[in-house]
Amino acid sequence: MAFAKDCENKLRRKSWSLCGQMVPVVTSYKYLGLVFQSGVEVSDLPKRMATERKVCLTRAYYAMRGFLSYTTIPLSIQTQVTKASLLPVATYGGELWGMCKTRCAGVQKELNKVMRTMVGIWQCADKRGSPEALSRELGISSIHEIGSGARARLWSKSPTLKTVLRELQMNPMKSKSETWVTGSTSGIKLYSKGVEGFPKDFSLMKPEDLCTKLRNAISEDEKRKHGEQKVDVAAKKSFTVYLQSDYFATRAFIDQSVGCLHLAQGVKLLVQCRVGGFLTGSRAKHFSGLVDSMGCQSCRRDDMKCSLPHILLRCRMWVNPRKTMFSKLRHLETAVIFDSFNRLPVGSQTAMLLGGKVGELRFEHWLGDPQSVQEPGFKIVAEFLMSVYDGLKQHIGESMIESRGPKGHGNLLNLAEPLQESEEPLDLDLDR
Ligand SMILES: [Zn+2]
Repeated sequence: MAFAKDCENKLRRKSWSLCGQMVPVVTSYKYLGLVFQSGVEVSDLPKRMATERKVCLTRAYYAMRGFLSYTTIPLSIQTQVTKASLLPVATYGGELWGMCKTRCAGVQKELNKVMRTMVGIWQCADKRGSPEALSRELGISSIHEIGSGARARLWSKSPTLKTVLRELQMNPMKSKSETWVTGSTSGIKLYSKGVEGFPKDFSLMKPEDLCTKLRNAISEDEKRKHGEQKVDVAAKKSFTVYLQSDYFATRAFIDQSVGCLHLAQGVKLLVQCRVGGFLTGSRAKHFSGLVDSMGCQSCRRDDMKCSLPHILLRCRMWVNPRKTMFSKLRHLETAVIFDSFNRLPVGSQTAMLLGGKVGELRFEHWLGDPQSVQEPGFKIVAEFLMSVYDGLKQHIGESMIESRGPKGHGNLLNLAEPLQESEEPLDLDLDR
């Protein structure tokens, strides 16, 4: 590589050879995965590296999409494969281009696609569910978090290296624009500001400690700031519910279900419910831009929205699977917890069924207990979701097709049986 003014013309004036072979003079050359071109702006390099990562991740994603979208492969295995083979592709060189949220956004978008595919929300235009909640649920950190950690670690250990980085770190360049060293320092300062237990003089920290602490700080920061972000309202709401219900505490069910192949799809549906991505009638209409006015198509009630609480607790179409679910849950949980559960509003009951916490109340046996031979709560709920899923999808599909037709709206209303009585409370006392 030659660096000089007008070097290309100067190079072309001579012929170059190496061991008797002609060496071509080229204007662009790929080195360590990066294309160097004549006239390249060095300040553009990090941006180009991030773009390159996005392209590579997309390629790897399409190569693996068959495996990732297979509903009967346990989610836990798909997550481990993603962490081992796709994340390194996505974050390669993060030491150089990381610690900038804007640069990471493109790669993150592709990673969101990967995660959606795994849990079964895989259509290209599908934006159901909150990506932040999904990444916490699956234990896959954000690209911003991984990149920042890697950059901080390299920054911290650069004084001990034998490369040019050591010189740059020890004798910082006096430059108006940001360099890698000054950018890293200010980045770490920014994210560690006001974080409890983060030493002010972070240059004395061990590289690994700095990396871990900074990653935790960024993760907490994302949690705090999610309300301010300009994202889809539905996604924001889903993430709020995820945090409020403390679903994170019960995410171990994904690993616990790894041996139950027959429940693989049910576990994915459960994750969809927890991150706000389960396809209910209301959600289908929201994302296709239709007005949600036709009610639930499963029980043909036009005064009832086809929401998650309706499907789990009220819809008449799923009375039998629901009875099975509640009779099993009743045997599993204590009478005290079940009585408190009965008195809760439907929204809170839904959160509890999905493994969440309402006030201080949570199903005690929702997660599996290694000492117990009983079937844990999450399996019971996953079974229910599996038994209603196909029928539900069909009803939603039908209603969408009909409502798009010329006289669709009217047709549907005529089809709905006139139900006069009001919504009766759920009969959970099955022993009666
Ligand atoms: Zn219904």
